[in-house]
Amino acid sequence: MANLKLSHIYKVYDNGQKAVNDFSIDIEDQEFIVFVGPSGCGKSTTLRMIAGLESITAGDLFIGDTLVNDMEPKDRDVAMVFQSYALYPHMTVYENMAFGLRNRKMPEDEIKQRVMKAAKMLDIEDYLDRQPRAMSGGQRQRVALGRALVRDPKVFLLDEPLSNLDAKLRSTMRSEITALHKSLKTTFIYVTHDQVEAMTMGTRIVVMKLGYVQQIDTPMNLYNQPYNKFVAGFIGSPQMNFFDVTLKRDKDNVEVSFDKGDKINISYEDVSKVHDSYLTGDKKVILGIRPEHLILNKDGNGLKLVISNIERLGNETIVYGKLGDKLQEFSLKDEGDSVVVKVVEQDDINIGDVVYALPNNNKIHLFDHDTEITLMNKIPEYNTIHVSSDLEKMNLINTSINMPEVFKNVLKDIKQFDLSVPPHAIVKGNDFKLKVVKIEKVDDKNLAYLDNNGSYIFALVDDDVKENEEYSFSICNEKVNLISDNKQLLKQIDDYEEFIGDFSKTEVRENKENVLHFFYSIDGYKLEAPRENGYKINSIDGDDSYKNTYKYCIKRNDIKLADEGLYGEVFEILDYGNVRFARIKTKSNEVLINVDRDFDKKNVNLAFDSKDILVYSTKIDMRIC
Ligand code: ADP
Repeated sequence: MANLKLSHIYKVYDNGQKAVNDFSIDIEDQEFIVFVGPSGCGKSTTLRMIAGLESITAGDLFIGDTLVNDMEPKDRDVAMVFQSYALYPHMTVYENMAFGLRNRKMPEDEIKQRVMKAAKMLDIEDYLDRQPRAMSGGQRQRVALGRALVRDPKVFLLDEPLSNLDAKLRSTMRSEITALHKSLKTTFIYVTHDQVEAMTMGTRIVVMKLGYVQQIDTPMNLYNQPYNKFVAGFIGSPQMNFFDVTLKRDKDNVEVSFDKGDKINISYEDVSKVHDSYLTGDKKVILGIRPEHLILNKDGNGLKLVISNIERLGNETIVYGKLGDKLQEFSLKDEGDSVVVKVVEQDDINIGDVVYALPNNNKIHLFDHDTEITLMNKIPEYNTIHVSSDLEKMNLINTSINMPEVFKNVLKDIKQFDLSVPPHAIVKGNDFKLKVVKIEKVDDKNLAYLDNNGSYIFALVDDDVKENEEYSFSICNEKVNLISDNKQLLKQIDDYEEFIGDFSKTEVRENKENVLHFFYSIDGYKLEAPRENGYKINSIDGDDSYKNTYKYCIKRNDIKLADEGLYGEVFEILDYGNVRFARIKTKSNEVLINVDRDFDKKNVNLAFDSKDILVYSTKIDMRIC
């Protein structure tokens, strides 16, 4: 039994192929995690890195509390089951299962006990004397499972174990593996390209595409709240329907206009997390609706379509339609106007009928047309707050407050602008007051809907904030974007600062041994690197690491003013009202640091701890340590 932690794992193959990018997950003991995605997305590579069959380019892999990056596969206490079964053809089933244990010099009587127990669990007791070639695919896969089982590993790794089996057997084996997981109470990590396997087996699923994790979530959350169009289309069968639409809000109503001219109305409440800028009627967005969330009718409600095919499956019927009212000439080319509807007990429809498909409003998904990311994030990314000003004061949320110096400097004489404010930048304070309409639990956070003249401002609030009460808050000015006329005049300040620097080593003779010391250096300021990080950088870039530059990132709060350190000159003070920053120029870097109100230095020395530094490659987009 074990938990696993993958922290910023990357795999770059020797040929330069970047197979896995920044994969992080905490896997709890006894979870059944499924990696799913189309062929080539990096599932097997990740699994093989966990097994130790593939080296890890960057990142840390923990099994239990042990860092196992450099541990031999046999010492990791994991067992892997392959798609190809990988059985020894000339050995009997018993011998196949006993082989690994014999290699470990386990006493014969214990081997026998373990093999018999596993054989019983897998219902292959009658086949122990057979050779694999005299067995069916399903039986062979059970032997492969048995061989993993007898080792009593901390973690089971399964790489597409069912893909060589026929559909019926796959479905039986699915439930058997699920039952096995329940009874063994061990962590399972399972790779498949089949979303049905993922949905039916996983306690959590990692959806991957082109080496990048798209979403990690429970099956139901993936189905109900897909993070992007890819996940939305990958999970669920038949696939979600997608349409290009525009959305226009008028008070409580939002009119959805489809490309072909159909229109439907939905309530603002159903899409209240969508940013206002998408609700103006002139921005194309992608609307997604699952086949089971469309209702067919002949009353003119919804999308007009003509039925092109019907599949009656008994318990349900899949109806295929084309937008419009005429059946086009037969063509295999999908013109992007197909609609799939899943209906139950509806017999009065025939090919050629013109019908209407009405979406169930609270099952609608909306995605940005370009990024294809959901517009209905569990926690909206930004609130847009309109501001008018007289250049000294700003008026927003029915209140007039002082304008920070930094805003004045970028606005010049602009009097109308927007603040784009992330929910975490709205904090308890005394500047504004709004009524809390609703509080929603999102993971471990409380998302408050604050009523700002009929639109919502979203804020993250403490447990003591209640619905229907007034919430008193302030805005962290440094965490907002200032926008006027679609131009970003001021960008929010990040919590991290970046420096470009070098990497070096020296070899020192200590206690009769040569010991390596590694250094980060930024504009001549040299810091000894934690030794394990030095080795990591060196293992990735080899001797090139002493010629390369690296990006060193550090939390601004960890940068201190000191008597000695990285020398820099102050060339600007940024006064945000609530906080102040000094902009510092070092020889070849430029950074911001937090300063007090009475700070008036012209030059400074910056100091920080090398343990707090994150190191990124400047050659490929990769976090090394
Ligand atoms: P999946 O299991 O999702 O099908 P893989 O992890 O096998 O994907 O592969 C991910 C990517 O890495 C693919 O583009 C594949 O071609 C590439 N790849 C896999 N193994 C190697 C290898 N040994 N050398 C170079 N590229 C590889």
